[in-house]
Amino acid sequence: MSPIEAVMRRACIVGAGIGGLACAAALLRRGWRVDLVERSEHFAVAGAGLMLQPNALRALDAIAVRPEGKGFERMALGNAKARLLTHIETGPSLAVLRGDLHRALAEAASGAQVHFGSTAVEVGPSRVVTSRGVAIDVDHVIAADGLGSELRSRLAPKVRRLYSGYTCWRAIVDVQLDGLPCEYWGRGLRMGVVPLQKGTYVYLTANAGRHAPSLTRAQIIERFAGFAQPLASVLQALPEDVLHHDLDYLDAHVWWREGVWFLGDAAHGFTPNLGQGAATALEDALELARCLDEGTEQAYVERRRGRVRRVADRSQRAGWVGQWSNPVACWIRDAAVEWAPSPALAA
Ligand SMILES: Cc1cc2nc3c(=O)[nH]c(=O)nc-3n(C[C@H](O)[C@H](O)[C@H](O)COP(=O)(O)OP(=O)(O)OC[C@H]3O[C@@H](n4cnc5c(N)ncnc54)[C@H](O)[C@@H]3O)c2cc1C
Repeated sequence: MSPIEAVMRRACIVGAGIGGLACAAALLRRGWRVDLVERSEHFAVAGAGLMLQPNALRALDAIAVRPEGKGFERMALGNAKARLLTHIETGPSLAVLRGDLHRALAEAASGAQVHFGSTAVEVGPSRVVTSRGVAIDVDHVIAADGLGSELRSRLAPKVRRLYSGYTCWRAIVDVQLDGLPCEYWGRGLRMGVVPLQKGTYVYLTANAGRHAPSLTRAQIIERFAGFAQPLASVLQALPEDVLHHDLDYLDAHVWWREGVWFLGDAAHGFTPNLGQGAATALEDALELARCLDEGTEQAYVERRRGRVRRVADRSQRAGWVGQWSNPVACWIRDAAVEWAPSPALAA
């Protein structure tokens, strides 16, 4: 270790996903040494598309990351007949491939020492030992290990991961659409169509029991058969290997426990109905890096807690209403959305 490295402050971040990589990049820019402990053997991103709203883009700008994507400033809401009901002002936003965002973040964090194929088996305020026996002396430990965070389960075992009641399929389809990203509401079903620079990101949600087996491509198409053209054609373009996840959320948020700082889904995983999970993880990452660097880390919790709670609650409500299945309730919902003034996401 060089004399300069010996005096540099050092952080260990567990989890090299969107939030972990962004935090690493932000700390590196402030002259810190960073170790990333990542369970996967390499940066492999299982995911389809992602919408980055203005708050996400502001955070990415701060670490000079800008993945390629298709810009948009408004989103639309429609019904299963593919009729548009309203528009939502988002401000300048970007629809990207998840892999592209991850690659750009990994490049920005390339000065970090990454311990792939490792978890943190011992964690103290000043020392982390990985599952491969590497001991890392640190000034701060950061948990960024996602919704299923092992560190959160260990340090805050009372926080529960709950099921939203609806499940989700995602894919990139080889169909080129113009126009705005749009979410179409059916009865207990939703279909999102997000044009990308190349292809279209499609997500589908359905009310279902927890851990219900996924559907085959043909079964998904059958389940969404009530969705009119052009949505039916988009469904026909689904690949065989559609990604499937039950959508979960945490019943309480955890920002700090026993010397470990939490960010992103590990701290506050919530349902993805507002497209704000990655965005809030990026905001957390930048704020935490700033507070640690300035020695004002208690302010991190104060600055993030209220804002994230509000976003999580709104996201939960949006999903609840979007998944209604009673025909009368759905008719009233759709009429109310159509006649109310256009909402703004104001991210
Ligand atoms: C269907 C769906 C659609 C979404 N759409 C959007 C959207 O449009 N816009 C948006 O902003 N957000 C969206 N989100 C939310 C977003 O994907 C997440 O909020 C975001 O990925 C959280 O980032 P993170 O870094 O906290 O966690 P993750 O991205 O989950 O990263 C966690 C990392 O930790 C690693 N890890 C896990 N456990 C361990 C361990 N024990 N030890 C070491 N490493 C570990 C994992 O391998 C991973 O690399 C969506 C989510 C879903 C499910």
